[in-house]
Amino acid sequence: MYREQLEAYFQDKQDMLVKAVCRLVSIDSVEGEPAPGAPFGPGPAAALCEGLKLAQEWGLITTNHEGYVGTADLCDKEDALHILGHLDVVAPGEGWTVTQPYEPKVVDGLIYGRGTDDDKGPVVASLLAMKAVKDLGVPLKANCRLIMGTNEESGSGDIAWYFARHPFAPATFSPDSGYPVINTEKGGLKPTFTRSWPVQEALPRVKWLHGGFRINVLPGDAEAAVEGLTLHEVHPFARDITARTGITFTFATEGNCTVIHAKGEGSHAAWPEGGNNAVTGLIALLCALPLADGPCKQALSDLNALLPHGDYHGRALGIAQSEPIAGDLTVAFTLLEVTETGLTGRFDSRVPLCATRENCENVARAAFESRGFTFEGEQEEAHHTPADSPFVQTLLKRYEEYTGQKGECLSTGGGTYVHEIPGGVAFGCTMPGFDTHLHGADERVKIADLMLSAKLFAHIILDMCAE
Ligand SMILES: [Zn+2]
Repeated sequence: MYREQLEAYFQDKQDMLVKAVCRLVSIDSVEGEPAPGAPFGPGPAAALCEGLKLAQEWGLITTNHEGYVGTADLCDKEDALHILGHLDVVAPGEGWTVTQPYEPKVVDGLIYGRGTDDDKGPVVASLLAMKAVKDLGVPLKANCRLIMGTNEESGSGDIAWYFARHPFAPATFSPDSGYPVINTEKGGLKPTFTRSWPVQEALPRVKWLHGGFRINVLPGDAEAAVEGLTLHEVHPFARDITARTGITFTFATEGNCTVIHAKGEGSHAAWPEGGNNAVTGLIALLCALPLADGPCKQALSDLNALLPHGDYHGRALGIAQSEPIAGDLTVAFTLLEVTETGLTGRFDSRVPLCATRENCENVARAAFESRGFTFEGEQEEAHHTPADSPFVQTLLKRYEEYTGQKGECLSTGGGTYVHEIPGGVAFGCTMPGFDTHLHGADERVKIADLMLSAKLFAHIILDMCAE
């Protein structure tokens, strides 16, 4: 019955949706310097004001929670459902061709611009779903609250603040990912390890090494300077390592040093097999060189043993494990800085549901500490909402009805917005198989996916909140 009403309601709503998405996308909402009422800077605060204005124009009850999040409510009854979206965006980066990042443009049924897909389009689809429920005038027994966050892309301090002051709803979904339902998210172990030593005089020696730029990116490039070996002396060793690892090396001479540049392939740390780690390839090469014995050489050799090239599952660390829901534990050695007096490194491990402190964090810690490294960092638990919960079953059923596609639960190694929310799942708005250029240039969203999502969400709100 609702289905026909909703199809009829949404018949003439596409323009409204597109205009609203463009309004929000026109605002540069990258994190900035905190100011009063704008804890994540003026951009996210401005986007939040516009989002709340839109919600108000559409007849919803709005509240600005001190600039951390904004909420839009259907009614003043108790919350049965939270929808969690966000209005902050990642920096636009280079390479935009279709339009400028904050000048949204519609081309062939797609809206281009930073934030169209992540996550302003889905926020608008959610607001439109709530407007539909409101306009249909169905009596409600409970509230649906849309929470518009402003800090998803840089730490989720927004919802941490909100949920420290407000209760969780019995059910939460976040349209900040894809379809069908993502109900499982791996936990994480992202420690920092260090070791220091006195300056070594004996040559040849490693003078410095720089590898990686962000904890969650498997590095495609790394560089080191070796003092006391010529590039001709390094070359044959490099050829061997390239044959073994696929990492390629180029060289430059700087004074008494040979600077080695290692090139692999970058990848998201949650899917390290998609890349080829330049840091571990470079360490393998340095360990093969005839360096003078000393503490730096020993430390690199220890790292080569603990996090060897190509070991993306933590086998050498002794933490490799797997279960059928979240899959394999992954390890990506993503950051390393070596100086004349020590090193600091980090790895990014995504751990399945079976990983505990005992069989994972403590094992990795012991492996590092026994070789003389310090090791800091605590394991974060995995997130899992059972696929057979009534809420997840409702989402899957409606998804199948509205899309005609098979509904199923998926697991991800990446971070979703509902990681800390009991019973939360990620749901929508991208249909499987479409590339939204997430976080990249020419980010886009399919208008048809947003319209479909708005209808689908409206039906789910009715399932959860109607009398
Ligand atoms: Zn997002």
